[in-house]
Amino acid sequence: MTPDNSKDVKFRDLVRRVTACTKCPRMAGSARVLGSGCGPLDAPLMFIGEAPGRLGADGSHLPFHGDKSGHNFEKLIEQVGISRYEVFVTNAVLCNPRDERGNNATPTSAEIANCAPFLQETVELLDPSIVVTLGAVALKACGVLDTHSFSLRDQVRTNSRWMGRSLIPVYHPGQRAMVHRSFANQLSDYQFVAETLRRLKRPRKKSVNTKPRPDATKLANVASQVLQNNPAGLSYFALHKLCFLAEVASLEMTGERLTNAYVVRQKDGPYFVDLHLAKLPQLIPGVQIRSVGTKITLRLSSQFDFHRTEPVGAITASDEAAIKKVLAKYGRMRDDELKRVVYLSRYMRALLRKERSTGANLYNAAVLPFATKK
Ligand code: SF4
Repeated sequence: MTPDNSKDVKFRDLVRRVTACTKCPRMAGSARVLGSGCGPLDAPLMFIGEAPGRLGADGSHLPFHGDKSGHNFEKLIEQVGISRYEVFVTNAVLCNPRDERGNNATPTSAEIANCAPFLQETVELLDPSIVVTLGAVALKACGVLDTHSFSLRDQVRTNSRWMGRSLIPVYHPGQRAMVHRSFANQLSDYQFVAETLRRLKRPRKKSVNTKPRPDATKLANVASQVLQNNPAGLSYFALHKLCFLAEVASLEMTGERLTNAYVVRQKDGPYFVDLHLAKLPQLIPGVQIRSVGTKITLRLSSQFDFHRTEPVGAITASDEAAIKKVLAKYGRMRDDELKRVVYLSRYMRALLRKERSTGANLYNAAVLPFATKK
């Protein structure tokens, strides 16, 4: 479903006002993290965190991406089968608060109050059926919008009514909160969220499918094949572009994507959030990463046994054909040549056309459609 035009226009206006906001003096140098990277405007579920992190959203402009909290968050939603394609992610305050030493700080009550009108407008405009607060600060900020008496300790993993919708408080996915609520417990919280979302999508059917989609496994397989094709090494840039071209080839050949991985448009073109550099060693255990200056090169260890790690059925014959086609045609191209090829793909052209015709800033917007078959 595509959000209606008026929603699009109102959201762009909201983003414009947020970008120009100077209400909080200590946020002067921080990014205003609200835009295409937050997710689709028709998302049925909205996550509200505390604030963009210094090493995460302040740099990536994607809420909960790029730092440890982001990695944990992405792992939690991935493991319960929630995709970024179906959620909108934002924060109680839209800029990164830092202490006098430059570290992440908790937003003050005044900063939360300053940003509350933006949060209120976002919730009312998107009108999600489910709001999930990540941590005590986000829960407190929701109380500024519409008074409640919920506490994180008492209401964690429960479904309450708030502003005419469901409110589910869970803990913040940052490392500090893991001391109070372990990753395993948080995973159960996210399973509750996923089940609530599934019930919403299929209200009359009792859902029993709590098995997570193997998106990460599939993406790991595709990326491993790309790396195997270049035993001498491949740039990090090329990995993203070749995986994107493999997805495009699959869409052209079968009408379906290889994976459901979230792919967004960044400065240099398509970027897979699950192929973030810090996540690669866990995703592809045999990967070796080398940085020389600004250039990052990847290769698979000679010990890496792709066939031993590949789950049966993860790569189908049609997947294989799409990947092979791309590697044969583009696998040895230089980065600048690859960049040109991806920009000529119909998905990148459509996004850029939309950006030109609407005047919207589509940096970090999803480039590929969400496909659910596999
Ligand atoms: S945190 Fe919100 S209110 Fe404060 S400067 Fe940023 S956008 Fe403005």
